[in-house]
Amino acid sequence: MLEIKDLHVSYGQARALKGISLSVGSGEIVTLIGNNGAGKTTLLNTVSGLIRPASGEIEFEEGKITRASSESIVRLGIVHVPEGRHIFPDLTVRENLRLGAFIRKGDVAADYDRAYSLFPILKERANQPGGTLSGGEQQMLALARALMAHPKLLLLDEPSLGLAPVIVERIYQTILEIHQQGTPVLLVEQNAYVALTAANRAYVIEAGRIVLSGSASELLENHEVQKAYLGG
Ligand code: ATP
Repeated sequence: MLEIKDLHVSYGQARALKGISLSVGSGEIVTLIGNNGAGKTTLLNTVSGLIRPASGEIEFEEGKITRASSESIVRLGIVHVPEGRHIFPDLTVRENLRLGAFIRKGDVAADYDRAYSLFPILKERANQPGGTLSGGEQQMLALARALMAHPKLLLLDEPSLGLAPVIVERIYQTILEIHQQGTPVLLVEQNAYVALTAANRAYVIEAGRIVLSGSASELLENHEVQKAYLGG
Protein backbone atom coordinates (compact mmCIF):
# COMPACT_ATOMS: atom_id res chain seq x y z
CA MET A 1 0.00 0.00 0.00
CA LEU A 2 3.02 2.30 0.56
CA GLU A 3 5.87 2.11 -1.92
CA ILE A 4 8.95 4.31 -1.64
CA LYS A 5 11.37 4.28 -4.57
CA ASP A 6 14.91 5.65 -4.61
CA LEU A 7 14.15 8.56 -2.32
CA HIS A 8 16.77 11.29 -1.91
CA VAL A 9 16.39 14.08 0.66
CA SER A 10 18.84 16.85 1.50
CA TYR A 11 18.97 19.62 4.08
CA GLY A 12 20.92 22.26 2.11
CA GLN A 13 24.25 20.57 1.26
CA ALA A 14 23.71 17.74 3.75
CA ARG A 15 22.31 14.56 2.20
CA ALA A 16 20.07 12.84 4.74
CA LEU A 17 18.48 10.11 2.55
CA LYS A 18 20.56 8.62 -0.25
CA GLY A 19 18.26 6.44 -2.34
CA ILE A 20 15.84 4.76 0.06
CA SER A 21 13.43 2.15 -1.30
CA LEU A 22 10.97 0.37 0.94
CA SER A 23 7.39 -0.84 1.04
CA VAL A 24 4.62 -1.50 3.53
CA GLY A 25 1.93 -4.04 2.63
CA SER A 26 -1.67 -3.76 3.76
CA GLY A 27 -1.41 -6.36 6.54
CA GLU A 28 2.01 -5.43 7.88
CA ILE A 29 3.90 -3.80 10.68
CA VAL A 30 7.17 -2.72 9.08
CA THR A 31 9.97 -1.25 11.12
CA LEU A 32 12.89 0.92 10.16
CA ILE A 33 15.65 0.66 12.73
CA GLY A 34 18.81 2.71 12.95
CA ASN A 35 20.93 4.88 15.19
CA ASN A 36 20.59 8.53 15.98
CA GLY A 37 20.87 10.63 12.85
CA ALA A 38 20.52 7.72 10.41
CA GLY A 39 17.56 9.37 8.66
CA LYS A 40 14.51 7.70 10.20
CA THR A 41 12.61 10.85 11.15
CA THR A 42 13.50 12.42 7.82
CA LEU A 43 11.90 9.46 6.04
CA LEU A 44 8.64 9.69 8.00
CA ASN A 45 8.52 13.47 7.58
CA THR A 46 8.95 13.04 3.83
CA VAL A 47 6.17 10.45 3.59
CA SER A 48 3.79 12.71 5.49
CA GLY A 49 4.58 15.69 3.27
CA LEU A 50 6.50 17.84 5.77
CA ILE A 51 9.71 17.63 3.71
CA ARG A 52 10.02 17.71 -0.10
CA PRO A 53 12.39 15.11 -1.51
CA ALA A 54 15.09 16.03 -4.04
CA SER A 55 14.15 12.96 -6.11
CA GLY A 56 12.43 9.59 -5.93
CA GLU A 57 8.79 8.56 -5.69
CA ILE A 58 6.30 7.79 -2.94
CA GLU A 59 3.12 5.92 -3.85
CA PHE A 60 0.18 5.23 -1.59
CA GLU A 61 -2.56 2.88 -2.73
CA GLU A 62 -1.24 3.16 -6.27
CA GLY A 63 -1.36 6.98 -6.43
CA LYS A 64 1.73 9.22 -6.33
CA ILE A 65 1.94 11.40 -3.21
CA THR A 66 5.56 12.48 -3.63
CA ARG A 67 4.83 16.20 -3.75
CA ALA A 68 1.39 16.26 -2.13
CA SER A 69 0.67 18.63 0.77
CA SER A 70 0.70 17.24 4.29
CA GLU A 71 -3.01 18.04 4.59
CA SER A 72 -3.95 16.04 1.52
CA ILE A 73 -1.76 13.16 2.72
CA VAL A 74 -3.67 13.08 6.03
CA ARG A 75 -6.93 13.11 4.09
CA LEU A 76 -5.74 10.09 2.12
CA GLY A 77 -5.40 8.29 5.44
CA ILE A 78 -1.70 8.48 6.36
CA VAL A 79 -1.50 9.61 9.97
CA HIS A 80 1.84 10.43 11.59
CA VAL A 81 2.57 10.29 15.33
CA PRO A 82 5.78 12.32 15.56
CA GLU A 83 8.66 11.79 17.94
CA GLY A 84 8.03 13.65 21.19
CA ARG A 85 4.25 13.18 21.05
CA HIS A 86 3.17 16.81 20.45
CA ILE A 87 -0.09 16.72 22.32
CA PHE A 88 -1.76 20.01 23.26
CA PRO A 89 -0.86 20.48 26.94
CA ASP A 90 -3.56 23.05 27.76
CA LEU A 91 -6.42 21.14 26.17
CA THR A 92 -8.07 18.28 28.01
CA VAL A 93 -7.50 14.69 27.03
CA ARG A 94 -10.94 14.59 25.43
CA GLU A 95 -10.30 17.81 23.47
CA ASN A 96 -6.98 16.39 22.26
CA LEU A 97 -8.82 13.29 21.04
CA ARG A 98 -11.47 15.42 19.33
CA LEU A 99 -8.75 17.22 17.34
CA GLY A 100 -7.60 13.88 15.97
CA ALA A 101 -10.99 13.55 14.28
CA PHE A 102 -10.87 17.01 12.67
CA ILE A 103 -10.73 15.63 9.13
CA ARG A 104 -13.83 13.52 9.69
CA LYS A 105 -17.47 14.34 9.51
CA GLY A 106 -20.15 12.68 11.58
CA ASP A 107 -20.38 11.11 14.97
CA VAL A 108 -17.21 10.49 16.95
CA ALA A 109 -18.82 8.90 20.04
CA ALA A 110 -17.80 5.39 18.97
CA ASP A 111 -14.25 6.63 18.42
CA TYR A 112 -13.97 7.92 21.99
CA ASP A 113 -15.20 4.50 23.13
CA ARG A 114 -12.54 2.75 21.07
CA ALA A 115 -9.80 5.08 22.39
CA TYR A 116 -10.94 4.56 25.98
CA SER A 117 -11.15 0.80 25.58
CA LEU A 118 -7.59 0.66 24.20
CA PHE A 119 -6.35 3.02 26.95
CA PRO A 120 -8.71 3.02 29.97
CA ILE A 121 -6.43 5.51 31.76
CA LEU A 122 -7.42 8.14 29.18
CA LYS A 123 -11.06 7.79 30.22
CA GLU A 124 -10.10 8.43 33.84
CA ARG A 125 -8.12 11.48 32.74
CA ALA A 126 -10.62 12.67 30.10
CA ASN A 127 -11.18 16.11 31.63
CA GLN A 128 -7.60 16.74 32.72
CA PRO A 129 -5.23 18.95 30.69
CA GLY A 130 -2.99 16.83 28.46
CA GLY A 131 0.08 18.47 29.96
CA THR A 132 -0.63 16.90 33.36
CA LEU A 133 -0.25 13.35 31.99
CA SER A 134 2.91 11.29 32.46
CA GLY A 135 5.17 10.69 29.45
CA GLY A 136 3.69 7.24 28.89
CA GLU A 137 0.13 8.55 29.13
CA GLN A 138 0.98 11.30 26.65
CA GLN A 139 2.27 8.66 24.23
CA MET A 140 -1.01 6.76 24.70
CA LEU A 141 -2.93 9.98 24.02
CA ALA A 142 -0.88 10.67 20.88
CA LEU A 143 -1.62 7.17 19.59
CA ALA A 144 -5.30 7.36 20.53
CA ARG A 145 -5.60 10.77 18.87
CA ALA A 146 -4.10 9.36 15.65
CA LEU A 147 -6.71 6.58 15.64
CA MET A 148 -9.53 9.14 15.84
CA ALA A 149 -8.70 9.98 12.20
CA HIS A 150 -9.38 6.36 11.10
CA PRO A 151 -5.93 5.98 9.54
CA LYS A 152 -5.32 3.64 6.63
CA LEU A 153 -1.61 3.70 7.49
CA LEU A 154 -0.04 4.75 10.78
CA LEU A 155 3.46 6.25 10.89
CA LEU A 156 5.00 5.97 14.37
CA ASP A 157 8.23 7.78 15.27
CA GLU A 158 9.99 6.26 18.29
CA PRO A 159 6.94 5.43 20.43
CA SER A 160 9.25 3.94 23.10
CA LEU A 161 11.48 7.00 23.47
CA GLY A 162 12.13 7.97 27.09
CA LEU A 163 9.61 5.53 28.55
CA ALA A 164 10.08 2.90 31.26
CA PRO A 165 10.17 -0.71 30.00
CA VAL A 166 6.79 -1.60 31.50
CA ILE A 167 5.17 1.37 29.72
CA VAL A 168 6.94 0.48 26.47
CA GLU A 169 5.45 -2.99 26.75
CA ARG A 170 1.99 -1.51 27.26
CA ILE A 171 2.34 0.81 24.26
CA TYR A 172 3.56 -2.02 22.05
CA GLN A 173 0.70 -4.31 23.11
CA THR A 174 -1.62 -1.63 21.86
CA ILE A 175 0.29 -1.16 18.61
CA LEU A 176 -0.17 -4.90 18.00
CA GLU A 177 -3.87 -4.61 18.85
CA ILE A 178 -4.29 -1.68 16.44
CA HIS A 179 -2.57 -3.73 13.75
CA GLN A 180 -4.80 -6.74 14.46
CA GLN A 181 -7.81 -4.49 14.06
CA GLY A 182 -6.63 -3.83 10.50
CA THR A 183 -4.28 -0.83 10.44
CA PRO A 184 -0.84 -1.27 8.87
CA VAL A 185 2.05 0.46 10.62
CA LEU A 186 5.41 1.90 9.59
CA LEU A 187 7.38 2.09 12.80
CA VAL A 188 10.67 3.89 13.29
CA GLU A 189 12.76 2.97 16.33
CA GLN A 190 16.18 3.19 17.91
CA ASN A 191 14.99 0.51 20.32
CA ALA A 192 15.60 -2.30 17.84
CA TYR A 193 14.59 -5.12 20.14
CA VAL A 194 11.02 -3.98 20.80
CA ALA A 195 10.55 -2.93 17.19
CA LEU A 196 11.79 -6.25 15.75
CA THR A 197 9.72 -8.19 18.24
CA ALA A 198 6.54 -6.40 17.13
CA ALA A 199 7.15 -6.13 13.38
CA ASN A 200 6.62 -8.50 10.46
CA ARG A 201 9.41 -7.03 8.32
CA ALA A 202 12.29 -4.69 8.94
CA TYR A 203 14.83 -2.45 7.27
CA VAL A 204 18.09 -1.23 8.79
CA ILE A 205 19.10 2.31 7.88
CA GLU A 206 22.64 3.65 8.27
CA ALA A 207 23.68 7.15 7.19
CA GLY A 208 20.71 7.55 4.85
CA ARG A 209 20.96 4.14 3.16
CA ILE A 210 19.15 0.83 3.69
CA VAL A 211 21.92 -1.64 4.52
CA LEU A 212 19.82 -4.68 5.37
CA SER A 213 16.22 -5.87 5.14
CA GLY A 214 14.25 -9.02 5.78
CA SER A 215 11.66 -10.57 8.01
CA ALA A 216 11.83 -9.21 11.56
CA SER A 217 12.64 -12.68 12.90
CA GLU A 218 15.55 -13.02 10.44
CA LEU A 219 16.99 -9.70 11.53
CA LEU A 220 16.62 -10.60 15.22
CA GLU A 221 18.84 -13.64 14.48
CA ASN A 222 21.31 -11.72 12.30
CA HIS A 223 24.76 -11.41 13.92
CA GLU A 224 25.49 -7.97 12.48
CA VAL A 225 22.16 -6.68 13.78
CA GLN A 226 22.76 -8.28 17.16
CA LYS A 227 26.20 -6.68 17.41
CA ALA A 228 25.17 -3.23 16.22
CA TYR A 229 21.64 -2.84 17.61
CA LEU A 230 20.84 -5.51 20.18
CA GLY A 231 23.80 -5.17 22.49
CA GLY A 232 25.01 -8.67 21.67
P1 ATP B 1 16.93 10.52 15.62
O1 ATP B 1 16.63 9.17 16.13
O2 ATP B 1 17.99 11.22 16.38
O3 ATP B 1 15.73 11.37 15.35
P2 ATP B 1 17.00 9.92 12.83
O4 ATP B 1 17.46 8.58 12.35
O5 ATP B 1 15.54 10.15 12.90
O6 ATP B 1 17.64 10.25 14.21
P3 ATP B 1 17.08 12.28 11.23
O7 ATP B 1 16.53 13.15 12.30
O8 ATP B 1 16.22 11.92 10.10
O9 ATP B 1 17.68 10.95 11.87
O10 ATP B 1 18.41 12.97 10.68
C1 ATP B 1 19.13 12.50 9.53
C2 ATP B 1 20.27 13.45 9.23
O11 ATP B 1 19.77 14.71 8.79
C3 ATP B 1 21.15 13.77 10.42
O12 ATP B 1 22.49 13.87 9.97
C4 ATP B 1 20.64 15.09 10.91
O13 ATP B 1 21.66 15.81 11.56
C5 ATP B 1 20.21 15.77 9.63
N1 ATP B 1 19.08 16.68 9.85
C6 ATP B 1 17.88 16.36 10.38
N2 ATP B 1 17.06 17.42 10.41
C7 ATP B 1 17.77 18.45 9.88
C8 ATP B 1 17.49 19.84 9.63
N3 ATP B 1 16.29 20.37 9.92
N4 ATP B 1 18.47 20.59 9.10
C9 ATP B 1 19.67 20.06 8.78
N5 ATP B 1 20.01 18.78 8.99
C10 ATP B 1 19.08 17.98 9.53
